[in-house]
Amino acid sequence: MNDTMSLVDTHTHLALNEYADTLDDVLNRSRQAGVDTWMVIGTSLDESAAGIELCKKHPGMYAGAGIHPHEAGKQEKGWLEKLRHLTGEDRVMAIGEIGLDYYYEFSDRYRQRQVFRQQLELAGQMGLPVIIHCRSAMDECLAILDEWQRDDIPVVFHCFGEGPDLAQQILDRGYFISFTGLITFDNARQVQKTAQYVPLEQIMLETDCPYMSPHPKRNVKPNEPAFIVHIAEKLAQLKGLTLEEIAQATTQNSRLFFGIG
Ligand SMILES: [Zn+2]
Ligand SMILES: [Zn+2]
Repeated sequence: MNDTMSLVDTHTHLALNEYADTLDDVLNRSRQAGVDTWMVIGTSLDESAAGIELCKKHPGMYAGAGIHPHEAGKQEKGWLEKLRHLTGEDRVMAIGEIGLDYYYEFSDRYRQRQVFRQQLELAGQMGLPVIIHCRSAMDECLAILDEWQRDDIPVVFHCFGEGPDLAQQILDRGYFISFTGLITFDNARQVQKTAQYVPLEQIMLETDCPYMSPHPKRNVKPNEPAFIVHIAEKLAQLKGLTLEEIAQATTQNSRLFFGIG
């Protein structure tokens, strides 16, 4: 990376305990690597609130607030009003991550769909973009989004791991696809094909740290935003483009999508 390039990490969990004692160092290494803007994502009311607090201390940091499908079954009466209150905070630029996870199915499927729909409504009311977590539930996720009918709200499918056919259904709707370190793994041919296939105009990048450390840092835990450079390099290689071209396009996409910077 040269001095003029910058990257946005559009999906981090920097509010988690993994970084409690190390965050300043993690952010310094990130800036040195040219990664100077971060989205801190919420999976619960607590993580969303913690992310918002971090944003107040760190320039370049913005928050997503939302209830992850894993947490859908744990929400008690009043959760939606609490979330609505959080999404009104200055640095909250998205609702997320929300969606369906039928792979782990930690929450009852009916409840997952209900909590997903309620948060989509909230995004519509607040005019905030949506970050989707979708695992083994693509048909239902898309059906719920189609039913929602809000073409004016930007949507991204994060940590994409599917092949080009499913990607096409997302692209057809004008949504974005966000790639993690998955595309750097040798055994991930299918998602690498997707990365080659998806137009650069609809791509964003993320580490999803502390999870998903990319090659060649795969054994380094926790993952951190500086490592997004390896994801950008892999995407450049897959697309036959330069790292500069990848950085410029994905940074512009991210800034427009979230309305930041
Ligand atoms: Zn996720
Ligand atoms: Zn996440």
